Amino acid sequence: MNFIRKLFSYFFRDELTIKHKLVNVILGMAFLVQFPGLIVTIVVGTDFWGIITQLIMLLIITFVLYMTNRYPQSPVPAILIATVGNLIIFPIMYFVCGGYGTGIVIWMLFGAIFTWLLVDIKGSVIISAVNFILISGCFHVEKNYPQYVKYLETRNDEILDTSIAFIFVTVIFGIIFKYQTFAYEKQAKILKDNDEALRKLNEELEEANSRLESASAAKSNFLANMSHEIRTPINAVLGMDEMILRECKDKQILAYASDIDSAGHQLLSLVNDILDFSKIESGKMELHPVEYELFSVINDCYNMIFMRAKRKDLQFRIKNDPNIPAFLFGDEVRIRQIIMNLLTNAVKYTKDGSVTLNIGFKNIDEENIELIVSVKDTGIGISEDNKKYLFDSFKRIDERSNRNIEGTGLGLAITQKFTEMMGGTIEVDSVLYEGSTFTITIPQKIADKNTIGNFNERLDRRNTKDDQSDKPKEAHKEKKFTAPRARILVVDDVRMNLNVVRLLLKNTEVQIDLASSGDECLKYTLMKRYDLILMDHMMPIMDGIEALHKLRVQVDGLNIETPVVALTANALVGAQEMYLNEGFVAYISKPVKAAELEECLLKFLPENKINKESDE
Ligand code: ADP
Repeated sequence: MNFIRKLFSYFFRDELTIKHKLVNVILGMAFLVQFPGLIVTIVVGTDFWGIITQLIMLLIITFVLYMTNRYPQSPVPAILIATVGNLIIFPIMYFVCGGYGTGIVIWMLFGAIFTWLLVDIKGSVIISAVNFILISGCFHVEKNYPQYVKYLETRNDEILDTSIAFIFVTVIFGIIFKYQTFAYEKQAKILKDNDEALRKLNEELEEANSRLESASAAKSNFLANMSHEIRTPINAVLGMDEMILRECKDKQILAYASDIDSAGHQLLSLVNDILDFSKIESGKMELHPVEYELFSVINDCYNMIFMRAKRKDLQFRIKNDPNIPAFLFGDEVRIRQIIMNLLTNAVKYTKDGSVTLNIGFKNIDEENIELIVSVKDTGIGISEDNKKYLFDSFKRIDERSNRNIEGTGLGLAITQKFTEMMGGTIEVDSVLYEGSTFTITIPQKIADKNTIGNFNERLDRRNTKDDQSDKPKEAHKEKKFTAPRARILVVDDVRMNLNVVRLLLKNTEVQIDLASSGDECLKYTLMKRYDLILMDHMMPIMDGIEALHKLRVQVDGLNIETPVVALTANALVGAQEMYLNEGFVAYISKPVKAAELEECLLKFLPENKINKESDE
């Protein structure tokens, strides 16, 4: 019993196709009919050739059954059964078993139909065509040469033979069709069950996914809140430290304060990165497109990077296409952040050589350009293997060799996200130990068709002007002055620019307050009276012109009459006139130079607060 069950589960195992299982049914039945038939023939022992024929048939059936199940993918066994049965066995049996008047015709019909069940269409057509010719041939031969047919002895035998064939074929077909229906139903049930299981799995996956998403959102929210909360005390620490740096005279304490300042700024930029990153992750990051001046962005980057590069003895070059439109419309703050991230990395990961910032553009149409910014360095480079990890968050590559270089692995992830949010792309070209070039391409709207001009030429012009003013050294010396009782306010949204002005004016001993927005400026002007205000033009939210207008009509304002000088990167023709019309007393264009600032102070500070060196 166990053996039969095993045999059954082997011949009808799940991996077999229905067609294949059918072949097994047919062969199995043929075996079950043939085997007892052979035993009976041997026992009766009358027909020697009958025994041989049945033995050969049994061997063929067993062989095909074996091959079918040994190579279940192969169509050969089915073709073999159909071909051998229809084209060899049945025609022989036709002549041996009594011809037209017996059951052989029913068997032949059975074989012909069977072919269509087992073999594919093309094979069935070919086998059936040959079969048809052969059967017609058999009929023809019997009609014209009846001596070749071994007829059964009596008419009764013929009727019996036909009846047996009829019963067998009916039973076989019945079983086959029933089995086929059963197999299809089983398959359909399996499919339905699978479908159900899949649906359940999908539901579970969706649930797990939404749990994950909410966990990740909670994490991002937590990070965003934390970063925001941490920034407030850091700003206080840095602000207080700034006061120490400004007012303390003790060298040792100044050194401590300067360490606090640099560590504090590092911490601040780290927290800012995390804040940005978690905002991006939680989908809360929004772009704030404004009209901005590209030159001012380049200048800010120059100011922020120049000293860092110099400290490492790196050459820092800027190249720009002078035909880029001067004013663009886009998220200035994020664009500056992207360029700064790339420049900071270039300086960080370069020991010697140079860092080059290249700014170009491509026209898209009348109103839009693609801004192309590339940062090239001659630094450590990135291996092919590591390139794929570059933009992963919190992933630093070559951690071991970079362990002395500070970083979190967030800069490039943020840069990539910002670039993509603006519809741009970022590309890296790098050769290990030779250097890297990061290129970003960002679509921007043109806000003003005037062109930007050449940054270096403007810088050179300024330097030469300075040199010339330096020429008679004595004359310059004469100009030297201090104004410790004078108080000025500098307003610029980029902290580094504020520091540049503060450092450039250090020798004058002027008291300087720094405000990083129009709003902050208006808070200072309610609290203190200034002798002069230096105001950046392009600032987010409230620009310099708007701040000046508000200042002039500020209720309880202490600086309604204080002279305000525009600090701007706008060096276009007509700029001076525009600023004077708006109410500024003068304008200084960026990059800012010490001599120019000093001249400005001499001109606008009250004379009684200025101590000229030659006076002393
Ligand atoms: P990090 O804070 O570590 O600098 P980033 O996301 O800015 O994080 O950069 C990820 C990694 O990419 C860095 O750790 C560094 O290994 C590599 N990398 C970035 N910029 C450069 C570059 N200009 N030259 C070589 N390697 C770089």
